[in-house]
Amino acid sequence: MKMNDITGTVVAITGASSGIGEATARLLAEHGALVALGARRTDRLDSLVAEIVAGGGRAIACEVDVTSASTVVDFVARTVDAFGRLDVFVGNAGVSSLSPISELDTAGWSSMIDVNLRGVLNGIAAAMPVFQTQGRGHFVTTVSTSGIKIVPTQAVYAATKNAVRTLMEGLRQESTDGVLRTTSISPGYVQTELVDAIADVRIREAAQASMATMGIPAAAVARAIAFAIEQPHDVEIGDLTIRPTRQG
Ligand code: NDP
Repeated sequence: MKMNDITGTVVAITGASSGIGEATARLLAEHGALVALGARRTDRLDSLVAEIVAGGGRAIACEVDVTSASTVVDFVARTVDAFGRLDVFVGNAGVSSLSPISELDTAGWSSMIDVNLRGVLNGIAAAMPVFQTQGRGHFVTTVSTSGIKIVPTQAVYAATKNAVRTLMEGLRQESTDGVLRTTSISPGYVQTELVDAIADVRIREAAQASMATMGIPAAAVARAIAFAIEQPHDVEIGDLTIRPTRQG
């Protein structure tokens, strides 16, 4: 089955410098979307923009720290400057500082709350005025199966993801006038860099092993995001779970 035509759809993606965000930008651009790439590692974004442009697509790179509301506002403004509008905001940037609650890694907790929850709120605050002016828009967020099956060491990470899930359902309930679409994508293990920064060696190595043995490619999640975006505006894909077939 072919995708619906998304040519010219303007999509801003946070966390586009690696993993799921990078794969999503690449896939959407291949199908004609105009993509704005946000993250802190601008060297990675610049390489991806060059690759997309070399392939005949259109893309811009913006340095964005999602914990800073002003840089997210600037990201949206630069997207609209470059492409004339904004159709979809993909709040995908995330961090996972996994550890047992008893270890009281308060710095890790703050980082996950700031990036995973506050970062999504900053995206909503930045994109909402544009969506309201246009009379339409689509928020997509990357949540997680961690919030569906709660396992040891992932409680705070899962809490931030479930906070976003709740937020998106609230936004959906407040948006029944047909202007906004909301989509929460819940991936299971996906082969990305997400767990490489976990401080605890045993937890990091266990997560890396799970990713290596059963993780699905980031492109699989990109296809799920593209599926939500390609629907006609009166069709909302609310929640999508996409995990390795072998994941418990
Ligand atoms: P990656 O580590 O590959 O990507 C994370 C992205 O987030 C990077 O582009 C990183 O860019 C960006 N990021 C982190 N902090 C910030 C910040 N403060 N400001 C802006 N960007 C930031 O991991 P994934 O692709 O796996 O993660 C993408 C999303 O998917 C996350 O929300 C994650 O929680 C979620 N997810 C991932 C799963 C998996 O198994 N991989 C499973 C379920 C959900 P930079 O460092 O350049 O700023």
